[in-house]
Amino acid sequence: MKSSVSRGRALKGLAALPFAALAVSATLSTAQGATDNKKQFKYQDKPGPKGQICAGCRFFRKPNACTIVHGKISPNGWCIAWAK
Ligand code: SF4
Repeated sequence: MKSSVSRGRALKGLAALPFAALAVSATLSTAQGATDNKKQFKYQDKPGPKGQICAGCRFFRKPNACTIVHGKISPNGWCIAWAK
């Protein structure tokens, strides 16, 4: 005797959309590395408030370097670490 197994296939076409993993990019300041921290100090190539410029900053190193901000900077630049 045949036992007709009638399985009701109730496979609904569920579009199993994978939840977009919200990759929270928590790579703020740590991922910057030591090579470029200009953004961190909001360095700009032009003078800052009240005419503050790198050439008048205590961290300025002639001709175009700085002890705070890495890389090449402009004597006429400025960043938030400016100090007389
Ligand atoms: S600390 Fe900022 S303002 Fe001072 S020299 Fe470096 S980049 Fe310029």
